[in-house]
Amino acid sequence: MTYGSGASAHEVLRGLSVTVQPGEFVCIVGPSGAGKTTLLRCLSGLLRPTAGTVTIGDKKVTEPVAEIAVVFQDYRGSLMPWLRVLDNVAFPLEGMGVKRAERVQRAQESLEAVGLGDVGQKYPWQLSGGMQQRVAIARGLAYRAPILLMDEPFGSVDAQARFELEDLALRLRKERGITVIVVTHDIDEAVYLSDRVIVVAGKPTHVVDDVTVDLGDE
Ligand code: ADP
Ligand code: ADP
Repeated sequence: MTYGSGASAHEVLRGLSVTVQPGEFVCIVGPSGAGKTTLLRCLSGLLRPTAGTVTIGDKKVTEPVAEIAVVFQDYRGSLMPWLRVLDNVAFPLEGMGVKRAERVQRAQESLEAVGLGDVGQKYPWQLSGGMQQRVAIARGLAYRAPILLMDEPFGSVDAQARFELEDLALRLRKERGITVIVVTHDIDEAVYLSDRVIVVAGKPTHVVDDVTVDLGDE
């Protein structure tokens, strides 16, 4: 993937090849600037790679697709502030042609599935950051998106919210077979959460010589 062109061209993620199996829980780690967010943007169709392809099943991804629910690092970017929580969750269903009564029902069920059954009439800004992220997840569930992408979702919320989000992601994978792909800075968290940790190395930002770290085994 290359940002810009000519003299200002900036290449990230050359030669990367990743396959994620349905129902897998994968974490992506790597130093800042390695291209983790770029990778998520390409996967979700928000960014078209300048070379190579992204496919979901047999389908080539060339634009944002409904199969993928995306939770951004900054929870404030995910929801529409002028719509009540329930309407935020129901909104994408309108484009699918789902009738109003069913939209509301599916949105309510999805909010209940993320533990937020009683906040549908509130506005996003009345909720904590962690709750807003769970609303974004509920929106994906209402859409029956089989894939959940999260970009450093745990960094911007407190410890309790982080625990709830992790627990929710694990539960959705287990109970619904949802494929979960999470970018995180925290290697311990990545190992704890996922079946597989993908390291996007990029260029080393700093190199320390003459130091050996033996991590042993527990
Ligand atoms: P913090 O404790 O501040 O979250 P970390 O020690 O987790 O920081 O990570 C510091 C930096 O090293 C981050 O930029 C992170 O992405 C990177 N990093 C952590 N683990 C790995 C790894 N296994 N491979 C490459 N980069 C890593
Ligand atoms: P990470 O998520 O691993 O920190 P990013 O995918 O955000 O890495 O960024 C990878 C590299 O691409 C960085 O050097 C960043 O400055 C650059 N980059 C990201 N977005 C853009 C953009 N829209 N235009 C130009 N360069 C970008």
